[in-house]
Amino acid sequence: MDGTLKENDLSHVVSADKAHVWHHLVQHKPFETSDPRIIIEGKGMRVWDQNGKEYIDAVSGAVWTVNVGYGRERIANAVHANLMKMCYFANAAGNVPGALYAEKLIEKMPGMSRVYYCNSGSEANEKAFKLIRQIAHKKYGGKKTKILYRDRDYHGSTLAAMSAGGQDERNMQYGPFAPDFVRVPHCMEYRKDELGLGHLSGREFGIAAANQIEEVILREGPETVGALCLEPVTAGGGVITPPEGYWERVQEICKEYDILLHIDEVVCGIGRTGTHWFGYQHYGIKPDFVTMAKGVASGYAAISCMVTTEEVFEMFKSDPSDKLDHFRDISTFGGCTAGPAAALENMAIIEEEGLLENCTAMGDRMMANLQALMEKHEVIGDVRGKGLFLGCELVKDRDTKEPVDEADIAAVVGDCGAQGVIIGAANRSVPGRNNVIAFSPALIATAADIDAITDAVDKALTKVFG
Ligand code: PLP
Repeated sequence: MDGTLKENDLSHVVSADKAHVWHHLVQHKPFETSDPRIIIEGKGMRVWDQNGKEYIDAVSGAVWTVNVGYGRERIANAVHANLMKMCYFANAAGNVPGALYAEKLIEKMPGMSRVYYCNSGSEANEKAFKLIRQIAHKKYGGKKTKILYRDRDYHGSTLAAMSAGGQDERNMQYGPFAPDFVRVPHCMEYRKDELGLGHLSGREFGIAAANQIEEVILREGPETVGALCLEPVTAGGGVITPPEGYWERVQEICKEYDILLHIDEVVCGIGRTGTHWFGYQHYGIKPDFVTMAKGVASGYAAISCMVTTEEVFEMFKSDPSDKLDHFRDISTFGGCTAGPAAALENMAIIEEEGLLENCTAMGDRMMANLQALMEKHEVIGDVRGKGLFLGCELVKDRDTKEPVDEADIAAVVGDCGAQGVIIGAANRSVPGRNNVIAFSPALIATAADIDAITDAVDKALTKVFG
């Protein structure tokens, strides 16, 4: 059995799934009365389920991942060729696609130097956290172990990544968490009242929001704070673009207090925000660590990367007579060639097909379409995003900004699905506040695809909210 499917196997697959698969993020009770959706096939922007129903995938595989679209033969062929020649070898031994992808990636990241391979976004973030802690011990005598993270940001599902988790709903019932992770406020202009900054706007607001990070550093003691970990544009927390002036001030603060900057590009990385390869490159940020996962191989293989500067790497080269004096860490499947082989082709496709530019153009189109919907639908309180990474915050009342009920968000997502368009929902910051509908189509989207997605949203909003 090779995992491919014959027509008459379909009902068996559905019942096997229903009986034995524990799906991610799913409340399973409804499966007892209905069948799970099994995605059988994908091509370009489209996928087909077990009933032959076709969908436009407006979320790149549910979680902003399949940046180059489905059915890319050249990625599959490259993975196949590499697995046949040399599938896996770990530790100090390198491999061909791993070396070549690291070189290509660093070309796209001026100022960065070293690539550490692992398998998921959470894992890449854990690696950075471990390095930050080790630097605190090596360089600062065990001080500067604190890692700051931001309200509404998400860095993964493992326990240390959750300790840096700014979305309370995801964390409830999983504590206690690791010590020395400290939360800083969000920077969301739409909800600036929550920050006590309702009287400010534009650049003034951005600088004041960044200064709230400084307040936390001063409260904790700068000598105890080793790093700040942020998403360039917050993804699951509600698609939050940073205000003007914010990043400039954040960078100054890190410099002033000798704090390492860790940028989580797990969602934004590899073209998702358009024009640049990485979200941080829009804002002139100079990071010490960059982590990435989803778009690296567009889901064709499991791969993530933790990338550092040469300065960080230098700190770990040192004394060979001291057995502890290196990064004592391994990721077993960081030695699998499938990941970097897929990533190399993924990157080549983005370059050859001009997908960074297409992402910007189609992102602008989608933004304009969503803004037009905001004119029409009172329920849209805010439209945000960058490139093909967008969201609409739905509220009961534009003045109070009270979130719509989650059941209504589910109804909008469900109605779009019934129309053949898969969209997502974001914002797990506060329980019951999952009130952002989110879009992250593949970077290959055409104008017709974008219009079809926003037309479906228009119809769904009319149906659910009138
Ligand atoms: N960081 C961000 C910003 C994410 O959105 C995610 C996942 O959605 C992660 C980290 C964790 O990635 P993974 O699920 O691959 O562990």
